[in-house]
Amino acid sequence: MTIYQNLIAGEWTGADAVENINPSDTKEVVGLYASGSATDTNNAIAAAKAAFPAWSRSGIWERHVILKKAGDEIMARKDELGALLAREEGKTLPEAIGETIRASQIFEFFAGEALRLAGEVVPSVRPNIGVEITREPLGVIGIITPWNFPIAIPAWKIAPALCYGNTIVFKPAELVPGCSWAIVDILNRAGLPKGVLNLVMGKGSIVGQTMLDSPDLAGITFTGSVGTGKRVALSSIEHNRKIQLEMGGKNPMVILDDADLSVAVEAAANSAFFSTGQRCTASSRLIVTEGIHDRFVQAMTEKLKTLNVDHALKTGTHIGPVVDERQLKTDTDYIEIGKKEGAKLAFGGELISRDTPGFYLQPTLFTEATNQMRISREEIFGPVASVIRVKDYEEALAVANDTPFGLSSGIATTSLKHATHFKRNAEAGMVMVNLPTAGVDFHVPFGGRKASSYGSREQGKYAAEFFTTVKTAYTLA
Ligand code: NAD
Repeated sequence: MTIYQNLIAGEWTGADAVENINPSDTKEVVGLYASGSATDTNNAIAAAKAAFPAWSRSGIWERHVILKKAGDEIMARKDELGALLAREEGKTLPEAIGETIRASQIFEFFAGEALRLAGEVVPSVRPNIGVEITREPLGVIGIITPWNFPIAIPAWKIAPALCYGNTIVFKPAELVPGCSWAIVDILNRAGLPKGVLNLVMGKGSIVGQTMLDSPDLAGITFTGSVGTGKRVALSSIEHNRKIQLEMGGKNPMVILDDADLSVAVEAAANSAFFSTGQRCTASSRLIVTEGIHDRFVQAMTEKLKTLNVDHALKTGTHIGPVVDERQLKTDTDYIEIGKKEGAKLAFGGELISRDTPGFYLQPTLFTEATNQMRISREEIFGPVASVIRVKDYEEALAVANDTPFGLSSGIATTSLKHATHFKRNAEAGMVMVNLPTAGVDFHVPFGGRKASSYGSREQGKYAAEFFTTVKTAYTLA
């Protein structure tokens, strides 16, 4: 079998490889992917450092052309790349193709941003002096990504890093190297100079840790768990390094008595269970007021009966498998914890077998949960959600905000008054009204508060906050 290698200083390299396994069919090896060493990582950092002076001064047209070419190729190959994504991560084919299209759109967006780089010229408070404010690239950026969005998250970090003139050492999650390899290959062929974008696949404890320990990374943009994010933060203080951390969530979805029941059920089922609940923006706390509670639970249960859990590539599958055995164990452990804590299992909770050996779990709904239970406070990151009954809107808002996290927060209501109040008072980076908590646009800021995020926002023009540093220049006229 071919080994998909790491790209270091413009050369494909690496003989040690690990198998990329399909969670829908564990007999299927998606491919063999290089597993880099600390030396590989340091070589990649040195290459990115050497490439920085020239790339940071490259013309905006050159950056535009490369980013545009990459976006166009990803779009042209959306079905093939979508299938690769579904095979390595387990989300359904339509979800995977949608994510691939998103990656293409992100490259198109930053191809445009490259042509819109601008600064400000302002008068000084002193006579005969001019002031210019410009943005400059940071330097070598370390990019560390999780497994749950194998193409979109790498795209939304790589595209702005390149757009603003930075060079990159990119370390994708071990479980899903395939899509990362594909986009690095596409960008490399699109004409990036050697060393501008380096790919080092491999273990977090080796490749990731070597990146954290390096004094030569000017910034690290990280998406993943809170625990790893804290390591990134602590190491970065040591190295005086800029950081952007996107971490976990325990996102609430409030359903009020006046909600349109079908809108609420569609939004809640999507938020909690699509993409197998493996989204940082997934909603696992459904906070429901008394007057609609029983009707909502009944309608949700009916809805869950209609969702097929099966092979990600099979037509008609609504929910693919859990990503791997470890995550499956986490999910089933939390299901047991929920039962022990006294929540009522209203639907699911069981492993399922299908034609192929995979990590199949029923969507699982608890009712009679409280917001103090572990299943309501800790991120599970699987197809498990609980219904928390509350008296009224005021209690619903208080429960929604009573969490260590603050990424996305949703409400289903037909009341303008409550929708408006919720938008203003939800303690989250993103608020959704009559929409799922997951599902965002690519041209506007993405990120959260509290334990969910640290640093400036990702995506849209706000990405410049992280990927550039501001210079203020004064000139005597
Ligand atoms: P993880 O923290 O285990 O791994 C994330 C990345 O960090 C991987 O590439 C991993 O190899 C690397 N890593 C592990 N140990 C490291 C170390 N010592 N030094 C440097 N790098 C190291 O997270 P995961 O399981 O891949 O992803 C799931 C988590 O990601 C969930 O908590 C989810 O909520 C979060 N997530 C957040 C967002 C967001 O935007 N807020 C989006 C997607 C996922």
